[in-house]
Amino acid sequence: MNVSSWLNSAPIDRLDAELIVAHILGKDRTFLHAHPDFSLSEANLAQIRAFTERRALGEPLAYILGSKEFYGRQFKVTRDTLVPRPETEALIDTIKALKPHKVLDVGTGSGCIAITLALELPQTEVDALDISPAALKIAHENAQNLGATVNFAPSDLLEAAGQGYDLIVANLPYVDAKWDWIGPELRYEPQIALFAEDGGLALIKKLIQEAPAHLTEKGYLILEADRSQHQKIADYASDSFKQINPTDQTLVVSLCRR
Ligand code: GLN
Repeated sequence: MNVSSWLNSAPIDRLDAELIVAHILGKDRTFLHAHPDFSLSEANLAQIRAFTERRALGEPLAYILGSKEFYGRQFKVTRDTLVPRPETEALIDTIKALKPHKVLDVGTGSGCIAITLALELPQTEVDALDISPAALKIAHENAQNLGATVNFAPSDLLEAAGQGYDLIVANLPYVDAKWDWIGPELRYEPQIALFAEDGGLALIKKLIQEAPAHLTEKGYLILEADRSQHQKIADYASDSFKQINPTDQTLVVSLCRR
């Protein structure tokens, strides 16, 4: 069986099929396009079929391949970490524009936000917290692999956090288990990284309460949340924060201390 006949018959999305074949061959997709006649060995095919079967059952490709690209870099992911999402890259752009000096990433997971910020903003000090020791282990590994300096520590939200941050960023769990558009892939991901009570806002509200004590006078709190939650978050935060991004199309909620 050659590359192109496998790809034409694979029972999954074309891009995913290409990424699986390229991964097994240790090549990139360009190689497949340049060599459609490349012959797949029986050993290759057995691995390709096993991965394809997992994908067909709904497992996220990132877990099958063990990594996911985020902001142009490859991050190791396991089922202990949420898979980095392309929509979360908007948090990075927002924060880069604010040029903070000292940043805290809460619920860092694979570390993709903290590590990307440390690499994109080399003058910025970056700390990161997560409640899950298993996730912190992966985050550490990612920082090491990518040559980023981030101080990781275990913490339930801001319990173990220091003070004097001019920016706190968090992509906390905000999915309400009742939402009907929830995709089948989510069942493979750590549920504590996805779901929250109170319409998905329980942890975000707790963070809004805790954050002022850890922020500088004009500090920012930058959150990811579903667009249907943005107004509720701004209203809830309005005693301590003002919202500084009224209506853009991203999932980013930017709050600034009043
Ligand atoms: N955006 C993710 C999703 O809907 C949720 C990530 C999160 O809860 N932080 O799949």
